[in-house]
Amino acid sequence: MLKGIGASDGIGIGRVMIIAEQSLDYTPREITDVDAELARYQAAVDSFCDNTMEQAEAIRQSTGDKEAEILLGHIAIIRDPFMGGEIENLIKANQCAEAAVDSICKMFIDMFSATGDDLTMQRAADVRDIRDGVIGILLGVQEVKISDAPQGTVLVVKELTPSMTAGIKKENIVGIITETGSQTSHSAILARALEIPAVLSVSNAVAQLSTDELVIVDGSKGDVLTSPAEEEVEQYTLKREAFLRERRELESFRGKPTAGADGIEYELFCNIGTPKDATKAVEADGEGVGLFRTEFLFMDRNQLPTEDEQFDAYKQASLILKGKPLIIRTLDIGGDKEIPYLGLAKEENPFMGFRAIRYCLKNRDMFKSQIKAILRASAFGDIRIMFPLITAVEELREGKALVEEAKADLKASGIDYDENIQVGVMTETAASGVIADLLAKEADFFSIGTNDLTGYTMAADRGNGDVGYLYSPLQPSVLRMICRIIKCGREEGIPVGMCGEAAANPKMIPLLMSFGLTEFSVSAPSVLKVRKNISKWTKAEADAIAEKVMGMTTEAEITAYLETVI
Ligand code: PEP
Ligand code: MG
Repeated sequence: MLKGIGASDGIGIGRVMIIAEQSLDYTPREITDVDAELARYQAAVDSFCDNTMEQAEAIRQSTGDKEAEILLGHIAIIRDPFMGGEIENLIKANQCAEAAVDSICKMFIDMFSATGDDLTMQRAADVRDIRDGVIGILLGVQEVKISDAPQGTVLVVKELTPSMTAGIKKENIVGIITETGSQTSHSAILARALEIPAVLSVSNAVAQLSTDELVIVDGSKGDVLTSPAEEEVEQYTLKREAFLRERRELESFRGKPTAGADGIEYELFCNIGTPKDATKAVEADGEGVGLFRTEFLFMDRNQLPTEDEQFDAYKQASLILKGKPLIIRTLDIGGDKEIPYLGLAKEENPFMGFRAIRYCLKNRDMFKSQIKAILRASAFGDIRIMFPLITAVEELREGKALVEEAKADLKASGIDYDENIQVGVMTETAASGVIADLLAKEADFFSIGTNDLTGYTMAADRGNGDVGYLYSPLQPSVLRMICRIIKCGREEGIPVGMCGEAAANPKMIPLLMSFGLTEFSVSAPSVLKVRKNISKWTKAEADAIAEKVMGMTTEAEITAYLETVI
């Protein structure tokens, strides 16, 4: 079995077609007629843009506008005056068009590849695609015709470029295997949009597989089974059918309101870590973002992000959401989330230590700059602020006071923000559960962070396997805590959401509906599954289940019972 990155879910069973790399070798020449070479270069660019336009149209028809934009981006890059100007300068310096295109593209490829940032590295793949396209035209090389691939083909290629993807006929290609690429590369995005199972970054795939060999592509797991036995083919055929059935069923929930079987509606949001993830939330049909984990903006760098950098990120996420709610959690560092340049002292017990809101309230300049960035972004959408790890009312009060200070600063500078921005509490500590009645009087909303709430209630570390048996949201103590938080919030008339993993747990869903949760915030791939699970229950049925569960004594008993009803 070969291993790679599962980049597009599903199972594909078919025969290998290897797309060999075309030779783009050329002999660099010194040219004498500069004008003629410039014209030859321009004609190649024009022809490249015409082809790309056609491919984009093909993708628009087969897949959609957004995917077509990826290819149209190639036209923008090659028509960019800076890049074009640099290529022309080399031709004017007597280099042949092939060499000029090659060396300027290489410069951009090296520059983009060096960043280590996924999105910018993707630009390098785009420029490589453009270089090969333009040089191919200059050399008169015929393009590989992926569109001729027969039914049941598994494409195997070193790098799947967006232009190759344009030739893919969805009905013929059952799987894609590449040697490069990641979850976020354009080839992955296109494979997902075409709903073709794909495993990327399989090392030496081209050398290890041979044309017409039977393979199974498991795009959900990232596995490629070579020359599978008959039983394996049978087993994976069944898996494939089950996957397609589930996908069809889930797709029927797209665009629908999130509602119980009796029509009672709930909000269904997504958890995100970067502004880019907001796109995933929208694509997944999330109705907003219930948790933006801002610590990712602070990680993988050497210094604090500036207020402007943060403002750009929050505004970008909000614009992507087009008016849907965006709950931004202020910096939650410490515990298992380290940011080396902050120089936090090593602690005996970091989960009980100087972290999250505690750290932020003691580092007011940094905290205020984050709050100001959030407030400035709030002029562009429905943005809400959420404080993590609250354990005492004073922390909420201090945080809210800082929000007011930040508002006053912005007002004095004539900068817009949402005057009525909501400030909520992430209830994820045992203390916040116990004083939920007091917090509810001063918070605009609650969001239950069951990942930490479970750990802090059970005094069980979520990462420690030895105490893993205690770490369950179905423990009677954790369920009582959750039920209490929701009840206290609802009694004060504030919405109560859940952004911990438990919100997507099918066993938890009827209990949460019964307790009165108003919003579920889950990872993007879980959105349709959660909508489906919510649709199964009426409030009355959920109440009956919850009543039974809350009368039980042990987690084992609760789990066993829920397994029978779900
Ligand atoms: C939680 O604790 O439930 C939560 C959602 O936050 P995180 O996982 O980021 O700690
Ligand atoms: Mg947490």
